[in-house]
Amino acid sequence: MANVLVVAETRNGELRKVAFEAVTAGRKLADASGGGEVHALLAGPAGIGGKAEQLARYGADVVIVVESADFAQFARESLAATAADRARAGRYRAVVLGFSSQGRDLGPRIAARLDAPIAADVTELAVTGDTITAKHPGYANKVIVTLTLSGAPVVLSVRPSAFTAAETPKAGRVEQGQATPASGPTVRVTEVKEGAKGRPDLGEASIIVSGGRGLKARENFKLIEELADAFGNAAVGATRAVTDDGWRPHADQIGQTGRQVSPQLYVAVGISGAIQHLAGMRTSKTIVAINKDKEAPIFKVADYGIVGDVLEVVPALTAAVKEARKGH
Ligand SMILES: Cc1cc2nc3c(=O)[nH]c(=O)nc-3n(C[C@H](O)[C@H](O)[C@H](O)COP(=O)(O)OP(=O)(O)OC[C@H]3O[C@@H](n4cnc5c(N)ncnc54)[C@H](O)[C@@H]3O)c2cc1C
Repeated sequence: MANVLVVAETRNGELRKVAFEAVTAGRKLADASGGGEVHALLAGPAGIGGKAEQLARYGADVVIVVESADFAQFARESLAATAADRARAGRYRAVVLGFSSQGRDLGPRIAARLDAPIAADVTELAVTGDTITAKHPGYANKVIVTLTLSGAPVVLSVRPSAFTAAETPKAGRVEQGQATPASGPTVRVTEVKEGAKGRPDLGEASIIVSGGRGLKARENFKLIEELADAFGNAAVGATRAVTDDGWRPHADQIGQTGRQVSPQLYVAVGISGAIQHLAGMRTSKTIVAINKDKEAPIFKVADYGIVGDVLEVVPALTAAVKEARKGH
């Protein structure tokens, strides 16, 4: 029986979706390790402890609340030190966190402090005896790498949306923890620029409508916005061709050098399906592609394909989605 520590990600005093997914992955590991406990580290500014119950709902047996003004922003050094200290003290089998922008930064810092192995961007986990097997996509999602990790603790960062957050209510006993101050040079966040208002973050959205150069002109991107609006709560993404041309901000770019996403539904509009774009979205659950070239590589990964001109197909699709969602 071995316990698992989950570092629950917060932003602006709220838990992020990836926090619940990490708790779900941690629960799976603990259950497969003979029924261990899941302890969730909930670090944030004063008042963050009020969110403990949410983590319990997703399977945390214990929530360690660390409230500190330092954690009002992402304080990587102090958060890594706090998580590592807790991991050492609790003799956990694994430390689990999300492979989000924060997690990419935090995971290696925690692993270095613990002198522990790390598997990043994990999409599947299994336990056999003393060994944890972690799978993660490699070479722009062309191969699936299988890693076996032994010893304890190991650090695992899970790909956003790879583990569907599942409600498994637990007691969620609350313990108060202490922040470990950062030592040495630290990065201080002085400003955070919010992305598009009113839309979910690309990493959290269950539907993403993404546009490529096939839209022909910056102003035609409004077709993408309109389709996203018709779905209700969809995010908008883009290819690098589009962001390089300045039609959309770089933050919207999906792919090898952009965001990596795995929504329930990914609608690729006027996107060829270059390998570097696929690297960011091919793990989406359902992919719909619209392209006038029936040989476009995007159709090789698409579950549904529409061959046609985006300027005609997208308005018709938007109207059909609106009709289907009437009354929602
Ligand atoms: C190191 C490196 C990293 C990269 N990283 C990324 C990355 O992170 N993300 C990324 O996206 N790219 C990345 N790229 C660029 C990538 O190789 C492609 O150039 C890019 O993805 C192409 O974008 P696109 O599909 O919008 O454009 P195109 O490849 O030009 O495709 C446009 C598509 O639209 C279709 N089309 C044209 N007109 C219409 C119409 N009227 N109706 C319907 N369909 C139409 C065409 O048939 C075509 O398939 C990277 C490249 C390199 C070298």
